[in-house]
Amino acid sequence: MTTNSDIAIIGAGPAGLCFARALADTGLKIAVIERQTEAALADPAFDGREIALTHHSAQLMAQLGLWERIDAQAISPLRDARVFNGSSLLSLNIGHSNIGHGKTSQTETQHSELGYLIANHLIRKAAYEVVKASPAITLKTEAQILNIKTDANQAQITLADGEIIKAKLVIAADSRFSETRRAMGIAADMHDFGKTMMVCVMEHPVSHAHTAWEWFDYGQTLALLPMNGLRSSVVITLPPDEMNHLMTLAEDDFNREVSARFKHRLGDMRLASTRHAYPLVTVYSKRLVGQRFALIGDAAVGMHPVTAHGFNFGLKGIATLSAEIKTALAAGKDIAATSLLLRYEQTHRRNTKPLFLATHAIAKIYASDSPPAKFLRASAIRIGNRIAPFKRAVAGFLADAH
Ligand SMILES: Cc1cc2nc3c(=O)[nH]c(=O)nc-3n(C[C@H](O)[C@H](O)[C@H](O)COP(=O)(O)OP(=O)(O)OC[C@H]3O[C@@H](n4cnc5c(N)ncnc54)[C@H](O)[C@@H]3O)c2cc1C
Repeated sequence: MTTNSDIAIIGAGPAGLCFARALADTGLKIAVIERQTEAALADPAFDGREIALTHHSAQLMAQLGLWERIDAQAISPLRDARVFNGSSLLSLNIGHSNIGHGKTSQTETQHSELGYLIANHLIRKAAYEVVKASPAITLKTEAQILNIKTDANQAQITLADGEIIKAKLVIAADSRFSETRRAMGIAADMHDFGKTMMVCVMEHPVSHAHTAWEWFDYGQTLALLPMNGLRSSVVITLPPDEMNHLMTLAEDDFNREVSARFKHRLGDMRLASTRHAYPLVTVYSKRLVGQRFALIGDAAVGMHPVTAHGFNFGLKGIATLSAEIKTALAAGKDIAATSLLLRYEQTHRRNTKPLFLATHAIAKIYASDSPPAKFLRASAIRIGNRIAPFKRAVAGFLADAH
């Protein structure tokens, strides 16, 4: 069987689904191809990730119709952030008041928080629901892709069940380990930090005051994302062997160990969810486009989670590319023209590369316990605290108030 679409999107993760929704009202016919079952997309399992979202992302999610589908109680405000180094109690404090001052824009809004936190499975569920409510989008689940080829006139995807999907443009949104990127012959800069991240929800008696913590301790990195109530999303980064031990500890022992790792700053912590481990691998694709082809989401830029920007960048790329396509449609032009795709590549690179590189540098310095790195780590926090423009820059990156 052969089906014709205008756009074929590979991967129904948050990026693929949001991109489909962004173009659902344009008259374009969109196919989304996903290897998981429809049931897994409709009711995604909790995956431990609590996604920190900027104001700009919240706005985009509202435009796409996702925001209103998420229970207000499940959206936690992120007011302030503190960055600690080693055993020192001195921290770099970044507050919502650091956002925006010094800008010239007259339309600038003052926010009472840096951003928001929403569980990833709730974002996925809302994205699935808006896609299902869009008649222009067809979802093909449990699909296995055998072949992808594109030429000057069209793109063609062959599935294992014999279906051939023809489209004007193919979008890869199939994760940072994108098989489509590889099939299209596009290389990527990949960095394996050799560490594993564990995420879970924990309850604690001491209030977090809606402040996020990033704690670059010696031999471990800890982060705490404040959820509504006396609960936090806890992120621990360790070498894989130590992580295996932590992942398999009995619950009481796990609670004791995590409370001790956080130096009991939030009292005795108690596990309130399942634990999930992720390898710490970052990816930046060498090219973001090809012939009738573009990469979005983590397939384009797979960020280090330390600055919590992966999905924020995903949404930014979706806004850039969908706007280019809408402009081409309005002018009666090809939605997969090389010039259009290159403009997307250039803009998305400009929006993501500086923070990608800066995050990398920070992650490397703070992952090292060598004496020069320890000196740099402590200095960065002391100096950063005194320099208002530096804090504004960090808050601006975190909150992305533009
Ligand atoms: C621990 C952790 C914490 C994070 N915290 C934050 C945060 O605070 N803020 C933030 O902005 N981001 C954060 N992120 C990043 C964020 O989760 C990702 O950027 C986002 O999930 C990427 O979405 P995606 O749709 O590009 O990819 P994915 O979520 O990886 O989805 C890819 C989809 O493609 C499908 N697929 C894969 N291969 C194929 C194939 N060959 N054929 C068909 N389908 C395929 C998969 O089944 C999946 O459904 C975090 C990530 C981690 C790991």
